Amino acid sequence: MVKICCIGAGYVGGPTMAVIALKCPEIEVVVVDIAAPRINAWNSEHLPIYEPGLDDVVNQCRGRNLFFSTDVEKHVAEADIVFVSVNTPTKTQGLGAGKAADLTYWESAARMIADVSKSDKIVVEKSTVPVKTAEAIERILTHNRKGINFDILSNPEFLAEGTAIADLFNPDRVLIGGRETPGGQKAIKTLKDVYAHWVPDERILCTNLWSAELSKLAANAFLAQRISSVNAMSALCEATGADVSQVSHAIGTDTRIGPKFLNASVGFGGSCFQKDILNLVYICECNGLPEVANYWKQVIKVNDYQKTRFVNRVVSSMFNTVSGKKIAILGFAFKKDTGDTRETPAIDVCKGLLGDKANLSIYDSQVTEEQILKDLSMKKFDWDHPAHLQPSSPPTSNKQVSVVSDAYEAIKDAHGICILTEWDEFKKLDYQKVYDNMQKPAFVFDGRNVVDANNLREIGFIVYSIGKPLDP
Ligand code: NAD
Repeated sequence: MVKICCIGAGYVGGPTMAVIALKCPEIEVVVVDIAAPRINAWNSEHLPIYEPGLDDVVNQCRGRNLFFSTDVEKHVAEADIVFVSVNTPTKTQGLGAGKAADLTYWESAARMIADVSKSDKIVVEKSTVPVKTAEAIERILTHNRKGINFDILSNPEFLAEGTAIADLFNPDRVLIGGRETPGGQKAIKTLKDVYAHWVPDERILCTNLWSAELSKLAANAFLAQRISSVNAMSALCEATGADVSQVSHAIGTDTRIGPKFLNASVGFGGSCFQKDILNLVYICECNGLPEVANYWKQVIKVNDYQKTRFVNRVVSSMFNTVSGKKIAILGFAFKKDTGDTRETPAIDVCKGLLGDKANLSIYDSQVTEEQILKDLSMKKFDWDHPAHLQPSSPPTSNKQVSVVSDAYEAIKDAHGICILTEWDEFKKLDYQKVYDNMQKPAFVFDGRNVVDANNLREIGFIVYSIGKPLDP
């Protein structure tokens, strides 16, 4: 029986391994993590991440051939294939701070694999890493070699949060990069055989290591670039009376462009796009390609601009001040069908509005109060012991934020609503009831273009949609 161990039980490691276990019943899959609470959650009825269809997949194979454990070393030692799916955030200090990928977790995982291995292993890069990382990993593994053979493969993950299970069941492609040596090719074949259980042969692409590593960064950069392109157009639409949905449709029907990823919004978020583009920018700079670096940097700058533009629009529409006004924030996750708030545009929008002294009432069915307050860098306000838990700065800010468990509660007595995540729930609200319960004039700022603006205007709302004429 082939044994797989995956280091890192996060948004990628958990779902990808659950699907491998489901599709390959004869393979034992153990997902390990140093974070005991995460592993405990994977072993409970309340999985640590929200992802449609995930519970079902896990319930079918957990305890059969899918296991979650904190015993990292034991399961790595026993595995034939070790996936490494640890986090690779942006470095916060030192050389390359603010751009380069922080490979601390990766390096410690590689050193641990070298230390505990007693048999040959295929080590698979599942995390998104800078191009040429495999070379460094090889050096760590082979330097500590004790007559053991390690083959390194790059198998970047292309799933999107919110549709992870559907993406894993039916991937556009699976990419496997390896050395062009007989050993490397044999390792590719072994991993290909795993995916071949459910992925058609023509969708399994095999490349050299560096192409696979770079393709993941390139894919995220291209996707983010499309969003920034359409968001840049949305600003021009607002200035000229064009409608960004009509423009998107008009350009998306060109088969050379295609219709996907052309929705204007308050901006992209998530743990990957910004981080991976920053990483790409850093790699370009290190390779003496400043103009290429500047090109990709601009994708992030436009994204930042879009968030700032949104905040400015809210404040300027509400008579140039939101001070003391209640604003309902509908949605905090970076996209629908996930509870993930990493790099969500909601953080910047909320901070911008708080900076103008707004009072925010935030609702997202999948994000906890604790997470939201943490993201806004505030400790939870303890009304019973306010002095004790008062945050150091800004001293009054906690009182400006309340996190509620119902959209109508968030909206009650609000002067304005900002829709920041495209949850289906927000399309279906009873907007007459919403209007009746708000201060007048009642504003809706739709950061995801999910509501029917004309219907809302008929009710009496003043509506701002991204990239649409203000007064059509
Ligand atoms: P995550 O933070 O959710 O999970 C990473 C896990 O690795 C954490 O639970 C952490 O405790 C664990 N970990 C770190 N060091 C460890 C060690 N030495 N031993 C054991 N466990 C360790 O991250 P994620 O969202 O799953 O992303 C993982 C990688 O996949 C990143 O490189 C990311 O860029 C990439 N990726 C993410 C997505 C996505 O949508 N989230 C999609 C494709 C690729």
